[in-house]
Amino acid sequence: MDKEKISVVIPCYCEEEVVPLFYNTLIEKVISQLSEIDFEILFVDDGSKDETLKIIKNLSKTDNRIKYISFSRNFGKEAAIFAGLKHATGNYVGIMDVDLQDPPELIVSMYEMLKSEEYDCVAARRGTRNGEPHIRSFCSRRFYKIINKISQMEIVDGARDFRLMKRSMVNAVLEVQEYNRFSKGIFEWVGFNTKWITYKNIERAAGKTKFSFWKLFLYSLEGIVGFSTAPLAIASVTGLVFCGFSFLAIVGIIIRQIFWQGSAFGWPSLVCIIFFSSGIQLFCTGILGQYLARTYLETKKRPIFIIKEKN
Ligand code: UDP
Ligand code: MG
Repeated sequence: MDKEKISVVIPCYCEEEVVPLFYNTLIEKVISQLSEIDFEILFVDDGSKDETLKIIKNLSKTDNRIKYISFSRNFGKEAAIFAGLKHATGNYVGIMDVDLQDPPELIVSMYEMLKSEEYDCVAARRGTRNGEPHIRSFCSRRFYKIINKISQMEIVDGARDFRLMKRSMVNAVLEVQEYNRFSKGIFEWVGFNTKWITYKNIERAAGKTKFSFWKLFLYSLEGIVGFSTAPLAIASVTGLVFCGFSFLAIVGIIIRQIFWQGSAFGWPSLVCIIFFSSGIQLFCTGILGQYLARTYLETKKRPIFIIKEKN
């Protein structure tokens, strides 16, 4: 039988401080522990503006297990994951961040679980969010509540992209060719048996997070719009409720006019109502717009990433 091979896909964007640290930890805590297995260390340089690519290239000269792909610009972590999965050749493929927030040693236990148990994927989730700003944790929790309510999928709270998958699942993920990618959703959507392991949140080894609050907000919209059409239904239900309400109000005013007269006062309230209802209308148009924009981007069929160089 062929030797087993684990590919580890590592998206990197401006990570010059952590790449060497990550590589050393991976060698020490994973690769030397699983000496009977072939490894492929696949760095995806997502258009870094610093020395990341140079460092990766230098490392690859000393270790032929290192492969790299470098994008022509920053395409985002989702594109980097997709490109990595596409190029990975192992019969097991892992994805992890380069900042050591995903403890590399877990790959060893993930591999052992995949070997001995009936799972197709072992994925990691953070049990705690220590060290994260409160507002960020709060919004993240809300996000998971909402998306689990309105989509058919169950996305585990605190789920990371950190996971090890069998080839069959990787191929399934690669079949999902959409341009607007929300990997956490795609991993759920393709099915297969996933085992979740929980670990304590670890802070970044060095460097800064690449995800601002705003970027995370947009990412969460990607998740909701990509995996649920409930917001569209919410728009129509809101419209119906408002129609019903205004109909009752009209009947009320007519009755008041017939029996008590004097219905023609109160333009301040009228202004408020106009503002309110036009606000709701714009909000609902906005929801439509979100779906339309994504449909538009999908129909253009642009490539998800563009490679400038690789080895
Ligand atoms: N990353 C990427 N492209 C981007 C942003 C981030 O490839 O546009 C990578 C980054 O280098 C890291 C991983 O995605 O390996 C997670 O990023 P980060 O640690 O900044 O996110 P956080 O852990 O703060 O959510
Ligand atoms: Mg991180």
